[in-house]
Amino acid sequence: MKKIASATLIMALTMPAFTAEFITIGTGSVTGTYYPTGGAVCRLVNKYKKETKIRCSVESTGGSVYNIKTIKNGELDFGIAQSDIVYQASNGQKGFKDNPVKKLRSVLAIYPELFTLVTRKKAGIKNIMDIKGKRINLGNKGSGNEATALGLFQVLGINKKDLKLAGILKAGEAPDALRDNKIDGYFYMVGHPTANIKDAANSVPISITPISGPKIDSFVKANPYFAQADVPAGLYKGVNTPIPTFGVKAVLVTSTDVSEKAVYTLVKAILENFDSFKKLHPAYANITKKSLLDGLSAPIHEGAKKYFKEAGLL
Ligand code: GLU
Repeated sequence: MKKIASATLIMALTMPAFTAEFITIGTGSVTGTYYPTGGAVCRLVNKYKKETKIRCSVESTGGSVYNIKTIKNGELDFGIAQSDIVYQASNGQKGFKDNPVKKLRSVLAIYPELFTLVTRKKAGIKNIMDIKGKRINLGNKGSGNEATALGLFQVLGINKKDLKLAGILKAGEAPDALRDNKIDGYFYMVGHPTANIKDAANSVPISITPISGPKIDSFVKANPYFAQADVPAGLYKGVNTPIPTFGVKAVLVTSTDVSEKAVYTLVKAILENFDSFKKLHPAYANITKKSLLDGLSAPIHEGAKKYFKEAGLL
């Protein structure tokens, strides 16, 4: 009797009065831009948790590819991912050739990410072809950086073996490796400015190497999810001119398994607090409510569609 009573008491204390829905957003390294973005989104979602019963939390992860695969198997509800990887996953191309993620859905395209080659100034890597014979970090398995770097290599006719080292560190580990002279440079597809590259620039003289030329031009033209852009001058110590490269959109994605209510609630929370959201990270400086719909390379989730229609944006 006593046992049953205490079991009931424990249940009453631990179970919420109404069933709450818990949602988790997969991001990237903590010093990148996905992680604070996940935090910004959750903060807005949680502002309404009393009414909506939806609680949002953020997870630091290995990046785009990991997030999409983990959404697919149901361990994550949402994730941030590069629009090139979202496209490939949704359409069964490249790394997703034999297993397209049919249930992958876009929620909104948040901000631009630029493919950034951060190098030690002393390494003298003046253009992308100079990476041959150097120690370059491509990124961990599961990162978008690694996937995009390998796509770029194909177009440039560069083989991993042409590098002295093709590194597999997480982006979060790359700045220390650069400072400690373990690598000559690293690729990072990221929204600027980011703490990661600030840390690198403050600990060792760096350059950002241009990723440009006729082959890059045709690579960008051939793929709808790429756009040419400059890493702005003045964001990082020692980088005082704009550096040409190409980029994608950082897209919030989910799957058809996630409820219309959860997705609707999340989109509404962002859109109805859009001005304060924009102030949460300098990478959002140029985004608009309309730009949130540019660069969606998987079908849009019904819950997001519903809100965008109500708001007159779709
Ligand atoms: N674009 C990177 C990736 O998918 C992550 C960038 C970030 O964490 O801000 O691996």
